Parts: sequence; structure tokens; C-alpha cells
Amino acid sequence: MPRAVVTGGAGFIGSHLADRLISEGWQVVVVDNLITGRLENLQHLMGRDDFRFIQHDVCEPFDVEGPVDYVFHLASTASPVDFVRHPLETLRVGSYGTENALELALRKGAKFLFSSTSEVYGDPLVHPQPETYWGNVNPIGVRGVYDEAKRYAESLVMAYHRYKGADTRIVRIFNTYGERMRLDDGRVVPNFVCQALRGEPITVYGDGRQTRSFGYVADLIEGIWRLAHSDYHEPVNIGNPEERTILEFAQLIKQLTGSDSPIVFREFLTPDDPKQRCPDITRARQILGWEPSTPLEEGLQRTIAYFRGRLE
Ligand code: UDP
Repeated sequence: MPRAVVTGGAGFIGSHLADRLISEGWQVVVVDNLITGRLENLQHLMGRDDFRFIQHDVCEPFDVEGPVDYVFHLASTASPVDFVRHPLETLRVGSYGTENALELALRKGAKFLFSSTSEVYGDPLVHPQPETYWGNVNPIGVRGVYDEAKRYAESLVMAYHRYKGADTRIVRIFNTYGERMRLDDGRVVPNFVCQALRGEPITVYGDGRQTRSFGYVADLIEGIWRLAHSDYHEPVNIGNPEERTILEFAQLIKQLTGSDSPIVFREFLTPDDPKQRCPDITRARQILGWEPSTPLEEGLQRTIAYFRGRLE
């Protein structure tokens, strides 16, 4: 039975990855300091012989008893609200946290997968974004703590791969939504869905002409699973290339929830909010044979049902 460590496993994506690993017959050890993750996401796994939870901040060196075959390093804040609230923690988890996770993998002879982000492309001048694009990031902007932490972490992972022989992979995750997102994480999907379900105004930041491409979490996990089993060491974009403006997205949420909420316009939460974002997934198609299979409306219906349950 292979054994994996999932840092950030109490978070939205980490907990779905833990589920997938367990369903594939793996043993899973989650390491999470619960700064943005929630034990509730793992409640159904607690008490199982093949599952263990360790509450620990990966910015401090750590060890895990017994053999480890794979380290999945997902620990990080991920929403703009969270990284504005926890800027230093965000920088530290990308730097010290990533180094500690890499050191664990080296000590254990384990493979390593790092969850990076489309934010490494910043406010992109190339559209859609292929992995070969180096990005347009403002290092001193409010979002810089996240973007640069992830960019540094990618450098660190590649250096461990090149100079220390670590067996690494990097996934660049584009906007992802689904069950277990926090209602208050401030991202556009929980905000719009909760506002629509409560009959509150739907808050579009700026003029709503900025674009995003939304991928359903189950598709992302399938991409991560395939990448984990590949021998490809450079970054791979995983996301859904179906692109919409945020205003169109607000209208879609309104329609799918049957809400009467008005759509209102507000100031941007952060300057440097990327004006466009859409993954070029040619590499994922070619190397992993992966592409998203969940239509946006179907994934959103499931997500809306989840939020409805939580708001009752
Ligand atoms: N956004 C919005 N209203 C909200 C929350 C977000 O218009 O209540 C916009 C935000 O300005 C951005 C997009 O939706 O252009 C996606 O934001 P999110 O925080 O989900 O993630 P990002 O892609 O910016 O990391």
C-alpha cells in the first residue's frame, strides 16, 4: 500500500486529493496547521487505519514516522482575501514550507508534487497562457506575496530536482471550484453563490470585464493524479479553458440559483487583479492525456447544492 503525505490536506483541494488517494488504496497522512483548512473537510476519514492527521505548521521542519512514497505539497493560503489577511504566512509557506516538504521527500526517498498556480503568470500579456510564458507579476503589489512565493517555490522545486536529484512535479492550478470551498474564503464562486442564495447583492469587482476560466475540483484531482504518475518534471497547467467575463459569470450564477439578487459593481479588492486568465492545456493533453470533462453548469449545480446545504 503506497503511503502519501498531503500538506494542506485539510483544505478544499487537499481534502479532495486525500479522498482520491484513499479510494485508490493509499495510506494518507495529512499535515496542516488549519490556518485556512478545516478539520470538517476530513471528518469522514478520521479514525480510519489508513488515515492520519497531524496538526503542524510546515514552515517549521517536520518528520513523519514510517515510510513515505509521495509528498503532495499543497499547503498555502489560496484566496486573495486569505493572502491579504496572512501575507507573511503566505510568503513563509511558499519558501520555508516548500523547503521543509522537499527535505522530507528527499529523506524518505519519496516522489514530490508541488501545487503551483496560474498566479505565476500575474496579469498576463500572453493569452491564453502556455507553461512557456514567464508571466507579468508585480513583485511589490498586494498579490505579490502569493505570486512571488509560488514563483520562488517553483524555482526551489526545480533546483532540488536539478541539483539534489529530487523526483518532482509541478502543477499550475487555474481557478477551481467545488464542494468544500469555504463560504467566507472571499473568492468569486463562494461569494456569488452565497450572495445569490441569500438574496443579497452580487458584488462584481471593477467593471466585470476581467475574465477567468473555472475548473471543477474532480477534474483537477484527475489531472493531479495523472501528473503524479508521469515522469514529467516541468510545470503543467490544469484548468478549464472555457473563459468568461466575471459579469457573465455573475449572470450565470443568478440564473442557476434562480435568484432575484441585483448585480452591483464594487472597487477591486486588490490592485493588479489579472484582466484575463485562461489556461493553454496543450501540454496536459499531450503528456497526461487529460482534459476537463465536467461542464461548468453541471459542476456549478453540484457546488450550489453544497452551499445551499451549508446555509440552511
Ligand atoms: N471577484 C468579484 N467579486 C467577488 C469576488 C471576486 O468580482 O465578490 C472577481 C475578482 O476581482 C477577480 C475574479 O472575480 O477578477 C476572481 O477572483 P477570485 O478571488 O475568485 O480569484 P483570483 O482569480 O483573482 O485569484
